[in-house]
Amino acid sequence: MPGLYLHIPFCAHACPYCDFSFVLLAGAPMPRFLKALDVEIESCRRSLAWKNTRFASIFVGGGTPTSLPVRFLEQILGRLHETFDLAPDAEITVEANPETLTDAKLAMMRANGVNRLSIGVQAFTPTSLEQLGRHHSVERAKRAVRQARAAGFPQISVDLMFGAPGQTLDDWNETLTTAVRLSPDHISTYGLTIEEETVFGRRRREGKLELPDENTHIALYDRAIDVLAQHGYRHYEVSNFARPGAECRHNLIYWTGGDYLGLGPSAHSHHKGRRYANVRSVADYIARLETAQSVVDFEERPTREQRIYEAILLGLRLSDGLDIDMFRRQFGENAFRSRKSVIDRLEKTGWVERTGSRLRLTRQGLAVADTVCAEIM
Ligand code: SF4
Repeated sequence: MPGLYLHIPFCAHACPYCDFSFVLLAGAPMPRFLKALDVEIESCRRSLAWKNTRFASIFVGGGTPTSLPVRFLEQILGRLHETFDLAPDAEITVEANPETLTDAKLAMMRANGVNRLSIGVQAFTPTSLEQLGRHHSVERAKRAVRQARAAGFPQISVDLMFGAPGQTLDDWNETLTTAVRLSPDHISTYGLTIEEETVFGRRRREGKLELPDENTHIALYDRAIDVLAQHGYRHYEVSNFARPGAECRHNLIYWTGGDYLGLGPSAHSHHKGRRYANVRSVADYIARLETAQSVVDFEERPTREQRIYEAILLGLRLSDGLDIDMFRRQFGENAFRSRKSVIDRLEKTGWVERTGSRLRLTRQGLAVADTVCAEIM
């Protein structure tokens, strides 16, 4: 069953590493955005492609969806419920930042069927929070997780980030141990990557950004794997760890090549082999919908080579690995045979391993996942 993604492009402030599509909340054209979103939702409801589709999940991401005033967020959730056919056990996630969570907002989300809250904590130490330009304290982040629990969210996920400027193993250890003490159902750990068009990108060009070196970066990731495994979190995707049964069903749709509908600026969709993406700029998104134009900015039917690359990339990111038999059936014997010698070499290097018909990244290979995928291509 497909998933539905909705992008809410508003944030209370800009994080210096962020490259997502968002505008600052202060002075944001909120009512115009909501009207525009309504128009897009209505046009998807009528479109032949998504007619009679039952969705397995909704993921409201951003931006910071919970930075919206409670009545706007409620209006959006209500609109999704009345428009789309959802599976009775649909997973409904909303992304949140700790400082935006009020008891009233949490209660409203629960009343509107949200059963998974994904909290962008990033760090549980004052030093890393400050280095990452986050606007919440360690205490506020801890309280956010407890508030969500008290509000009755069955699934709580916490996002953490490693590789912050000046971050040490001790600092990261404190973040990890605090996270597991709070006992969320799911933890994502993303390595900081520097995008050129961000404040961090500029600082790096000016030589003013001191990041952990490559070995420290790998050690930070390794530490996450060890600590989270010790506390019962299964490492089911390169950056994601879950208690049994708490894997993110929405993201699994992306990682297994399923269909998904994306709404809002910069949202991507995938429907029966066709991929398309909405315009990134919020102003452009609103203007187009106000003048009855399409918001689709990019569209493609991936070539066979692109599909092969994607199958390898997505398959290897999952701890279950790439199903070689299925790969052969999908792309033909030659597609596998032509890669066999590279796979054999990577196996000897210790970066991948074969179990039955599955090809998996080893512990060593996980740290260099992108290189491994590029080699197999
Ligand atoms: S809160 Fe999230 S989306 Fe908003 S600026 Fe920070 S990282 Fe980007």
